[in-house]
Amino acid sequence: MALDIIQLTSRGEEEDPPSPRSEYAGEWGRSVIIPKQNYYSYVEVFPQQTMALKAFTLCMRLGSALPLKDTILFEYRTKKRDELAIWRMKSGRYGVYIGGKAAYFRLPEMTSLLSHMCFVWDSLTGQTYTYWNGHRSMMTKLQEGYTLEARGRVILGQDADGFDSKLGGFDWHQSFAGEITDVNMWDHVVSQRRVSALADSGAVERGNVINWDTVKLQAKGKHAMVIAKCAGA
Ligand code: CA
Repeated sequence: MALDIIQLTSRGEEEDPPSPRSEYAGEWGRSVIIPKQNYYSYVEVFPQQTMALKAFTLCMRLGSALPLKDTILFEYRTKKRDELAIWRMKSGRYGVYIGGKAAYFRLPEMTSLLSHMCFVWDSLTGQTYTYWNGHRSMMTKLQEGYTLEARGRVILGQDADGFDSKLGGFDWHQSFAGEITDVNMWDHVVSQRRVSALADSGAVERGNVINWDTVKLQAKGKHAMVIAKCAGA
């Protein structure tokens, strides 16, 4: 009888499942630019796999000159509610909202220097934590056993309080202004070693739910732009 051998790394972790790979090592591709807060501009992201997830790792690079207020950083909204939302709160904390429940993290303040942030959740254990420039936060528990509901929409730049035929119910004060790039989302927990490599721009992996190299982006409103990668020397 053949024995199944689980490959362990030197850290004792199981090997990560393969991710799509990018030819753009160390480059972040397109950027979402929103120069100022506004009532209606946003960029819709069209995930490449279902958002009915039991686990995720969501990473992105952000920079903003906004003062500390309640600002939406990422929203996945169904008709019912926000299934997944990431907030920078005026209290200085960051909020991870999953299916109507929240976990909070105190992290460095967002500045105009791009910071690499990741948000990790695993339904099996409820373990929820974040990374700031490759450094892991404390862990907490949120929504153990839960599955994100499908049939929602992902947007950057606004918090939609309504979603009938179209997204709406935006609030100027909650809108994001700044730059968001390098957004990748996986349907599993990505290891600390790989998140650190991603933060250092040394990794070529891209998300299998959102792959920033190939995902369809659609800007709405005159203040939200998607700009192509700038060619360097
Ligand atoms: Ca709102």
